[in-house]
Amino acid sequence: KGIDMFNRMDVPLFGIIENMASFICDGCGKEHHPFGSGGARAEAEKLGAPFLGEIPLDLDIRIGSDGGVPIVVSRPESPQSRSFQRIADEIVASDAYAQAIR
Ligand SMILES: [Zn+2]
Repeated sequence: KGIDMFNRMDVPLFGIIENMASFICDGCGKEHHPFGSGGARAEAEKLGAPFLGEIPLDLDIRIGSDGGVPIVVSRPESPQSRSFQRIADEIVASDAYAQAIR
C-alpha cells in the first residue's frame, strides 16, 4: 500500500526494510520472529526493489527514539546500531540514492 502511494507521488524508493523483525527473548534468550521471517525480503523480490535489511524490535531503540537520542548515538557499537548502519550503507551505495542526490 505504501509503495503504491510513493510511486504515485514520485517519491524514489530506495528499498524495503523489515521493521520489528525479531527480538531477543527475556524468557529463553533466543531470537524470536513474531511476524515470521523473510516476508519483507520476499516482498522486495516481488517488487524488484532492493531488500535493505532488518531492524529488531528492541526496547532500547524505542526508548532512545522517544527520548530524542537515537541508539546509533547513545550506543553506536551495539548490534542494534549496526543494523541501522548496514541499512544506511546499503542506501548510500545504491543507484536510487545516487540519482536522488543529483
Ligand atoms: Zn522465548
